[in-house]
Amino acid sequence: MEQIEALQQLLSRPRRIAITTHQKPDGDAMGSSLGLYHYLIKKGHRVTVVSPTEYAEFLKWIPGSDKVLVGPADPDLARWTFDGADLIFCLDFNSLSRINEFEPMVRDSYAKKIVIDHHPDPEGFEDITFLDTAASSTAEMIYRIIVACGDKDIIDLPISEALYTGVMTDTGSFRFTNTSADVHYMVGHLIECGINVNRIHDLLFANFGAERFKFLGYCLLNCMHVLPEYKTAYLKLEKEVFKQFNVKAGDTEGLVNYAMSIKDINLAILITTQDDLVKMSFRSRGEVSASEFAREFDGGGHFYAAGGKSKESLEDTEKRLLQLLEEKKEILLTNALA
Ligand code: 5GP
Ligand code: MN
Repeated sequence: MEQIEALQQLLSRPRRIAITTHQKPDGDAMGSSLGLYHYLIKKGHRVTVVSPTEYAEFLKWIPGSDKVLVGPADPDLARWTFDGADLIFCLDFNSLSRINEFEPMVRDSYAKKIVIDHHPDPEGFEDITFLDTAASSTAEMIYRIIVACGDKDIIDLPISEALYTGVMTDTGSFRFTNTSADVHYMVGHLIECGINVNRIHDLLFANFGAERFKFLGYCLLNCMHVLPEYKTAYLKLEKEVFKQFNVKAGDTEGLVNYAMSIKDINLAILITTQDDLVKMSFRSRGEVSASEFAREFDGGGHFYAAGGKSKESLEDTEKRLLQLLEEKKEILLTNALA
């Protein structure tokens, strides 16, 4: 594979390397970044992971988290890291707008840029591209790259724990449609490398404050709208709810999946307000494309999981959504589980 050879060439002597990922990094963003971090350290490089924003507490047990540079906490060091890098790896995103104020630092750096990602519609700013929209996760792609470089044998516990976090979170614990046989083969190997899947699952998903569940209960009881006539369910959260429950970044993660778990629902949406912008998460099944809906709201993403935003009010956004449901009624009413 041409890109693997190019990559091996770049890594054939010790390099200064920056790894970065999208803002508000999720499990795959941090898992793939730290998995690659441990691998490159083992190969003798000097590596720094730079996150463009603070990230969720529940990911901070991943080995190497204590070394992550949170860009806004030390912008000068972030600039110095990008400026001084020979290589910059961009993981789990493919458009520089996803790293906020660090965009010009990466764009203008003389470093060779390598994108490793599984999202569609790449911007194309980089020198080497690994893009596979069929991959479950960026973590799975990192695993495949390490194997293709002939280094399967050096995958150790920290690499395995980080990559498992990425693939597990991006496949919804191995239940989404992106869960392939290769995903399970990979996880089989990670288990052989010593990971404790039960411990990791508990660290990620059995580690929440009780308030989060009170918030969840409130949302399901008061903010969820089920529309059987469109096989759609959506949650609309007013700003006040966030204040009332002292909700932190990441606390709405997974909320949309509850709406998606209702019988005979083909489309689920979460509508929230974030920094004066209305943010939307779309999930779908069967023939319904979440990304098609997201594109109507200045967004995009995967076929079954996508996101968008709106500058209109929560109410106007909701109205526009309801109009769209009427327009796309025919496809929404198909029988996804037939
Ligand atoms: P989530 O709903 O979990 O925030 O995002 C689901 C997927 O939708 C993400 O993997 C991401 O690719 C995509 N996505 C979320 N928000 C946006 C957005 O504002 N623009 C684009 N293009 N994609 C988004
Ligand atoms: Mn991902």
